[in-house]
Amino acid sequence: MAKLLDGKKLAKKMETKQKKIVASLRKKGIVPTLAVILVGRDPASGIYVSKKQEAATRIGLKVNVYDYPENIKTKILVSKIEKLNKDKKTHGIIVQLPLPKNINQAEIIESISPAKDVDGFHPLNWGKLAYKSEGLLPCTPAAVMDLFHFYKIPLKGKEVVIIGKGNFVGKPLSILLLNEDATLTVIHIETKNLKFHTKRADILISAAGKVGLIKKDMVKKGVVMVDVGISRIGKRIVGDVDFKNVSKIASYITPVPGGIGPVTVAELLENVIKIAQQSSK
Ligand code: NAD
Repeated sequence: MAKLLDGKKLAKKMETKQKKIVASLRKKGIVPTLAVILVGRDPASGIYVSKKQEAATRIGLKVNVYDYPENIKTKILVSKIEKLNKDKKTHGIIVQLPLPKNINQAEIIESISPAKDVDGFHPLNWGKLAYKSEGLLPCTPAAVMDLFHFYKIPLKGKEVVIIGKGNFVGKPLSILLLNEDATLTVIHIETKNLKFHTKRADILISAAGKVGLIKKDMVKKGVVMVDVGISRIGKRIVGDVDFKNVSKIASYITPVPGGIGPVTVAELLENVIKIAQQSSK
């Protein structure tokens, strides 16, 4: 039976440290503050925002939610972001994605100051990530890497297979893994024989968002299985992996929920705190 890669446990450890740092910043009169821009009424986005707010409240970090209607123009949204870029009391800015189709997502992401881009999506932070895993790292890829570090999972020379090449998870994660000398394969919807690749993996990371994609016969005995996928079945949140059966032969496995999700939120707060600390110097 696989050991759990327990994201809640790591997130709790991170929060304990963060709480102390925030308290000391507050003593100096600095209140680490995150601005969340929410456009329209996507119910999933609403849930993600409240998760971030709950975690922020636990560590004493302030969250300001800026709620805009679905029909807001790209130009207006850019001007709101530019105002926050200049606001000394705002340390981090995120735009909750996906944005409504009428808004130019790339333009919005690029309008966030790279110094406040706590989601790590700005092209400048992407560039820094590619060079040295520096700058503000995207939260979910950083969460996967920190979970590996926390459980001391070796990466050097390991056969790592990522399913999914999305801009927010698979692609940036592939760079972080290469920076740590993993032997990497990235597969996706156009890959012909998924099982050929998944079966070879020492470490398999699924970031496809497809329920039941990874079954027991697709993985090698002793695999480290990371499930980044999030899908909703009614009120239940489920990942990409058949947890019940894959956990019988894996050496480690992330649960969903309770795996990558809570660490992703902790990474976001970590980025906000990093900026607030720099502002205090
Ligand atoms: P995306 O849509 O940008 O990318 C999905 C990728 O999966 C694509 O490259 C696609 O080719 C691949 N894919 C889809 N179906 C496949 C299939 N049947 N076989 C092989 N490849 C397939 O999505 P994303 O933004 O990268 O997110 C991926 C998943 O991770 C989603 O479920 C999302 O909800 C989840 N997610 C979780 C967290 C978290 O905190 N746990 C954070 C962000 C995203």
